[in-house]
Amino acid sequence: MPARSRRSASPGRSKARRSTAKPHVLVVGGGIMGTSCALALARRGAAVTVLEKSIPGAEASSAAAGILGAQLECTAPGPLYELCRASMRLYPSWVKQLTEDTGIDVGYRPGGTMSVVFDRAAITGAHRRFAWQAPEGSVERVGRRRLLELEPALSPALAGGVLLEDDARITPPLLYRATHIAAARAGVTFRTGAFVRRVFTEGERARGVALDDGTLLEADVVVVAAGSWTSLVEGISLGSSRVVPARGQIVELESPAPVLSRVVCGPRCYLIPRDDGRTLIGSTLEFVGYQRNVTARGVRDLLGAAIELVPALADASLRGTWSNFRPYTADHLPLIGRGALEGLLIASGHYRNGILLAPATAETIARLVFGGRPLLDLNPFDPTRQP
Ligand SMILES: Cc1cc2nc3c(=O)[nH]c(=O)nc-3n(C[C@H](O)[C@H](O)[C@H](O)COP(=O)(O)OP(=O)(O)OC[C@H]3O[C@@H](n4cnc5c(N)ncnc54)[C@H](O)[C@@H]3O)c2cc1C
Repeated sequence: MPARSRRSASPGRSKARRSTAKPHVLVVGGGIMGTSCALALARRGAAVTVLEKSIPGAEASSAAAGILGAQLECTAPGPLYELCRASMRLYPSWVKQLTEDTGIDVGYRPGGTMSVVFDRAAITGAHRRFAWQAPEGSVERVGRRRLLELEPALSPALAGGVLLEDDARITPPLLYRATHIAAARAGVTFRTGAFVRRVFTEGERARGVALDDGTLLEADVVVVAAGSWTSLVEGISLGSSRVVPARGQIVELESPAPVLSRVVCGPRCYLIPRDDGRTLIGSTLEFVGYQRNVTARGVRDLLGAAIELVPALADASLRGTWSNFRPYTADHLPLIGRGALEGLLIASGHYRNGILLAPATAETIARLVFGGRPLLDLNPFDPTRQP
């Protein structure tokens, strides 16, 4: 159990102090956010324990589709785009290190994403949505012929679209497994069945957490990375609706070989290919609290939209369906940085882009604990900002 150390680094509202002592860090939540933060901290020498109420990685972080869509997800310049780009820059070396540490191929595949439309008149609008990203980002307007050259399985009824070549895809369950194994090998302790009820304080300082069974665990730093449940953790002064669950349903199909080579986003669904012939169809966006069910309407709509985009998917086998919760914030910006207390850090609210944003978030949290220039201006992501 992490012990109290008054000599540790102490991130809070004031600047993080550098310290030679080994900080003891408690991370609340064992999803990709908590686990990648834990890994980054342990690699720098922190003693880290991840507290997970159920099974590490079993929520949004394994349910995610795996689009690394810095370009696709951002239709206007701003802090989210800057953060996404910063994370995309970290991705190749992050994944390389994970594979070296664990031997796991996490399915990281550059190659871009494509936004496609059926209506010719809509191509200009689609192109305009992304054109501002050039010349920094690669944005290519494509007509029907080029579209079908790039992805022959797409419907000939499509008029064209936009190729966003800097985007990529990944396989989230493999990414999570590799991150978890790498973290454990770096010395991170995972405690499962550890439901954190609240962060407890001494004056204005976070001193540790209280578990549901009354156990108190002390630490120098508490990182709350509880995904869609973040607002339910008591004592961190986030309003109850600061982070809320936004359910997404996914349908998984299987074909003898991959039908696409890159992510395709149509008007009513997106398709993510896996190398083994699976295709994921995503996703619904529903505010239904923590109801985890998959609905008939959701499956019907996703299947219909997918077959409209790729007619051959009508003959694919249905492999499975699932749903999970994106940690949604009203301004669509994550909460990354110092919380309302000394010694409290938040890494949450990544909504649709938590897989994409994991490396940048982990690096940011590690720099806040150990010192170092931030990757970018963190003010827009300040967890204490007014919603
Ligand atoms: C259908 C769907 C598709 C998605 N597709 C993509 C995509 O293509 N690309 C992308 O970048 N992102 C995608 N996302 C978003 C991404 O999955 C999330 O942003 C990301 O996984 C959030 O990670 P997290 O660790 O914050 O949350 P989670 O993975 O939900 O982990 C939070 C963890 O905290 C634990 N926890 C909560 N409260 C407590 C507590 N009090 N005590 C102890 N433990 C606690 C939970 O049990 C859970 O394990 C998708 C999400 C969904 C649902």
